[in-house]
Amino acid sequence: MTIDWQDPAHQEIRDAIRQYAEAHFDEAMLQSWDREERLPEAALAHFAGLGYMGFTVPREYGGGGRDIGKTLVVIEELSRISLSLAVPYLMTACYAGVNMTECGSEAQKRRFLPRVAQGAVRFAFALTERAVGSDLAMVATTAQRRGDRIVVSGEKHLINGVNIADHLYALVRTDAPEHKYRNLSLLLIPVDAPGVSTARVQSLGMRGGAQLCTVRLDDVELDTEAIVGGEAGWNHGWKLLVGPGLDIEKLEVAAMALGVAQAAVDEASAYACERIQFGAPIAGLPGIRHFLADARTNLLACTLMLRHAAERIQAGLPCATESAMAKLFICEQARDIVLGCQTTMGAYGCIEGHGMQRRVRDALIFPLVGGSSAIQRNNLAKRLGLPQ
Ligand SMILES: Cc1cc2nc3c(=O)[nH]c(=O)nc-3n(C[C@H](O)[C@H](O)[C@H](O)COP(=O)(O)OP(=O)(O)OC[C@H]3O[C@@H](n4cnc5c(N)ncnc54)[C@H](O)[C@@H]3O)c2cc1C
Repeated sequence: MTIDWQDPAHQEIRDAIRQYAEAHFDEAMLQSWDREERLPEAALAHFAGLGYMGFTVPREYGGGGRDIGKTLVVIEELSRISLSLAVPYLMTACYAGVNMTECGSEAQKRRFLPRVAQGAVRFAFALTERAVGSDLAMVATTAQRRGDRIVVSGEKHLINGVNIADHLYALVRTDAPEHKYRNLSLLLIPVDAPGVSTARVQSLGMRGGAQLCTVRLDDVELDTEAIVGGEAGWNHGWKLLVGPGLDIEKLEVAAMALGVAQAAVDEASAYACERIQFGAPIAGLPGIRHFLADARTNLLACTLMLRHAAERIQAGLPCATESAMAKLFICEQARDIVLGCQTTMGAYGCIEGHGMQRRVRDALIFPLVGGSSAIQRNNLAKRLGLPQ
């Protein structure tokens, strides 16, 4: 299946999200979600009712059919409004929906995917640990087989949304440490299982009802149904992790960055047209006109790059290079564009009451998470066959 970007359904999704936002949200409300870490439950339920959570779910499991184009359109549009909407959407449609579709056993697909399509399940993506950031395969959280039980011990750090998740989608070490990539498994750990405890971590950006957390796992007992991919997934977690799901994850982050940057350009453009200094709107100043023209140009380049990678994923073509390029380029462009928009708004880009300060805090995060820019550059250089 290919993506038709002219499909009127894409514009209908954009219109529906924008109209809902206009009717229900104002900037004060968006800032309260961010500051008070509130979850916009009613809005998420509304979008689930429209079928948006099911865009990652094949029809035979109750979804609308796996459609990466529509999924990215939703992420981009929600991110234009607030990451307080986009991150919980990702936890359902992507962390649960994409991962179960790509990696789940048949039983796991039947158990989770219909609930994803209804918006009734959320996974937290639990990879990082205190000593393990970019070098993910060094995770130290262990899972051991004891008869027909699995016992998990360790700590996951900087995990988004544990407080609103049903399950952790957790990368753990399950065999001898010397086999770096062959000793890992992915497990589904219920967040309410005995032995799971959480602590809050405060973050500069990407705030909202999905709180950043540390999760302790003290002898958490699971049955073997918790192994992602079933028995075949035991010790094969790395292969599952770096498959198409990870390419899609890079595009999810890029789509969030694109949405935030688009909103920042809209806000800065409107501000520049209204703000009068030296007797005229600052939008008449050559520096500001050129910045906004460049920003719109770069946003179009980001959009086309995202679409190109999404088309390859949707068509089942290899996409590791294109998804890494898209993640790298769009997240860095978005950060630079948003910082330029903040400059355009002067002091008003830095104070409460305007969306810009929130967008700046969010935009700083994108190049660092989901595989930092440096890691994308390393992987691309390797793929280009450059000597080390
Ligand atoms: C708001 C927020 C939300 C997050 N949500 C989640 C989540 O839901 N789940 C989850 O698992 N994690 C999450 N994380 C963690 C995030 O994914 C990690 O921070 C990220 O993977 C990078 O790890 P690190 O910060 O430990 O950096 P490190 O790996 O310690 O790197 C530090 C610096 O060194 C650079 N560097 C590292 N290795 C290399 C190399 N080989 N070559 C060149 N440069 C290198 C990096 O680019 C970076 O600039 C979140 C983090 C934040 C801030």
